[in-house]
Amino acid sequence: MIDFSLTEEQQALIDTARRFAKERIIPIAAACDHESRFPMDVFKEAWEIGLVNPTCPVEYGGAGMGELDNTLIIEELAYGCSGITTSMLANTLALTPVKLAGNEEQKRKYLGMLTSEPVMASYATSEPDAGSDVAGLKTRYTRHGDDYVLNGQKCWITNASYAQFYVIFATENPELRHKGIAAFIVDRDTPGLRVGKKEDKLGQRASDTAQIFLEDVKVPKANLLAPAGSGFKVAMETFNQTRPDIGAVATGLMRRCLEESVAYAKERKAFGQPIANHQLVQWMLAEMAIRVEATRLLTHKGAWSLDRGAREPVVSSISKAYGADSAMQTAIDAVQVFGGNGYVKEYPVEKLMRDAKVLQIYEGTSQIQRIVIARQLLA
Ligand SMILES: Cc1cc2nc3c(=O)[nH]c(=O)nc-3n(C[C@H](O)[C@H](O)[C@H](O)COP(=O)(O)OP(=O)(O)OC[C@H]3O[C@@H](n4cnc5c(N)ncnc54)[C@H](O)[C@@H]3O)c2cc1C
Repeated sequence: MIDFSLTEEQQALIDTARRFAKERIIPIAAACDHESRFPMDVFKEAWEIGLVNPTCPVEYGGAGMGELDNTLIIEELAYGCSGITTSMLANTLALTPVKLAGNEEQKRKYLGMLTSEPVMASYATSEPDAGSDVAGLKTRYTRHGDDYVLNGQKCWITNASYAQFYVIFATENPELRHKGIAAFIVDRDTPGLRVGKKEDKLGQRASDTAQIFLEDVKVPKANLLAPAGSGFKVAMETFNQTRPDIGAVATGLMRRCLEESVAYAKERKAFGQPIANHQLVQWMLAEMAIRVEATRLLTHKGAWSLDRGAREPVVSSISKAYGADSAMQTAIDAVQVFGGNGYVKEYPVEKLMRDAKVLQIYEGTSQIQRIVIARQLLA
């Protein structure tokens, strides 16, 4: 039976996240964007009230929430600021491969680390010459006795400047492509690991994005998360599980666009009446509402499928692709509703437009989602 109602617990979760976004995120979001600063104090507070790492299993100190509950939280946080939300979500991106592929010892140590103190973790597949083409990554690992040694470079890594550990994908031989890729958990203080320059981004400027350099980084055997042959699968399954999260970020961002636009359209007058009376403005508002509703439903379906243990990568990809593209169009329309005021930093919508763009890029571009979907259709 299909049921769209929320439980009392889910409504309480939404209320908590909504209050947190209103009281702790919205008041500082513009300044964090302007200064390109991640608010660690806000992250710590969010962690304390259970809004960070919600899907971490109970056995390792987490709340053990399902993906649907996770998307409810994310939509509310992203309404406040999708940049700050992305940094909180990067922990989920890093803990998911540990949850999927980690042995008991690894889960106790690294999931336990995330739940016992407000620390960050990063997930690193991307490199200067391998973003969409994950199987083309070149960071190498070699065996040295019982240890592994990593050499290479990662880029665009969310939270790299702050992370306590990194899930790093490396290959034994780039010519093997996906078959050669393994995954490792690398502690921040490992000699040879250096965090490089922080990116000066167009949008989501409150989230930290930086490079990682690996020079003869010795990783103990105990930190091999997935051997060659299964590392690539772990990377892909991680994306499958986290793509609805991006749909939820898109929903929150669009809801903010819609609410800001409705309020402005009722206030702003042109031709002697509120612009809300003009049908072409109404059309933009209605289109925004359609996209919010459709993206939320797709996201919830993707999350619900994951919670049922059903493997439906197409649904995950559709929620991500439709959500990201809808968020971009909705943010452009919000700037349009605001006219000249939409183009300046005094009003909130120019930030929403800059923030929306990366949703079409990270965790698989909009083109890559189409490839995943088409491949399934044609299989
Ligand atoms: C703010 C931010 C945060 C990020 N966080 C992380 C992170 O935490 N961890 C991580 O590992 N990575 C992260 N990334 C990297 C992100 O996943 C990559 O940027 C993304 O996968 C695209 O890779 P690329 O930039 O190399 O673009 P490219 O792969 O070079 O693509 C360039 C263009 O070509 C298109 N294209 C490429 N191949 C095809 C094809 N076969 N068919 C059609 N079109 C194609 C793409 O869609 C895109 O439009 C982040 C990026 C950003 C901007």
